[in-house]
Amino acid sequence: MLNMKMKLKNVFVMYFFVSILGLMYALMQLGQPCDCTQHMKQNSDFVRNQDRAISKLQNEVKKLQAQVKPEEPPKPILPIIYVITPTFTRLVQKAELVRLSQTLMHVPSLHWIVVEDAATKTSLVTELLKQSGLQYTHLNVETPKDFKLKEGDPNWLKPRGVEQRNLALQWLRDNRELSDEGVVYFADDDNTYSLQLFQEMRFTKRVSVWPVGLVGGMRFERPLVENGKVTGFYTAWKPNRPFPMDMAGFAISLQLLLANPTAHFHLEAERGYLESSLLETLVSIEELEPKADQCRKVLIWHTRTEKPKMKQEEALQKQGLGSDITIEV
Ligand code: UDP
Ligand code: MN
Repeated sequence: MLNMKMKLKNVFVMYFFVSILGLMYALMQLGQPCDCTQHMKQNSDFVRNQDRAISKLQNEVKKLQAQVKPEEPPKPILPIIYVITPTFTRLVQKAELVRLSQTLMHVPSLHWIVVEDAATKTSLVTELLKQSGLQYTHLNVETPKDFKLKEGDPNWLKPRGVEQRNLALQWLRDNRELSDEGVVYFADDDNTYSLQLFQEMRFTKRVSVWPVGLVGGMRFERPLVENGKVTGFYTAWKPNRPFPMDMAGFAISLQLLLANPTAHFHLEAERGYLESSLLETLVSIEELEPKADQCRKVLIWHTRTEKPKMKQEEALQKQGLGSDITIEV
């Protein structure tokens, strides 16, 4: 019996040692390098190839990103404002046109139609338009001699800029279509225009109207508005005219003008009736669209430039000492 116990104990002790040795061997193997270089080589080749493919793709993405410009928010399409300006040669012409063009440069979606009252286009206007960077059309037509103001005539004696404005209307009829969205405004070269005015007129449906400052012998003239509708006009001079308004006080939709192909300014119109001669055929007073805070805001001034005195220049010219005429003023 004792012998049996001893044998069992030895078996247990043996088993214990063998287990410990086995465990130790296993632990030692964990930290040992194994002969798996082949396996590792395959692995690292695979990783390297993948890296190469990824960096290739990244380069492709970079190239494509460079090609695609950063996305800009789409600009709203604005109806074009066609500004029609008659102009004629005189000492202050360049000053007037520089001032007006530099106002217009601030107005988006604008096309300037400049019509010279001259038999041929002058280099002064040609160059000024070219350098303005504006979208423009340059035309010319001479006012018939019988209708032209003579030196010393008071300027109210004859209508001014009539044939020039009509030529611009003809150009629009020849070069634009009924489906084109736009608005037409007659802007003399000597007036003063607020930029807000162009915002007011931009979405004219038929004919929009607003006050004009420093005109008609008054601080301002303006359409009178009740409940959003034009009911009459605040003016002192010939108030019974169909449309007692200055040229600068209204804008017409391009579509309305194109839909009425014969509408034009009448060269023979009685004094003060030029604006009416065109508007009468296009709208009624009830249809007018009041702008500029229900016609309570003055955004355009009928300014006029003083004729410069040339006393000294003329005296010098008589002595053959006049200023250098190759210098443009
Ligand atoms: N104008 C013109 N030919 C002329 C006189 C004037 O083309 O013989 C132009 C002028 O440059 C201006 C518009 O017609 O753009 C109105 O003329 P003006 O300013 O003299 O008129 P007023 O201010 O007296 O209404
Ligand atoms: Mn004027």
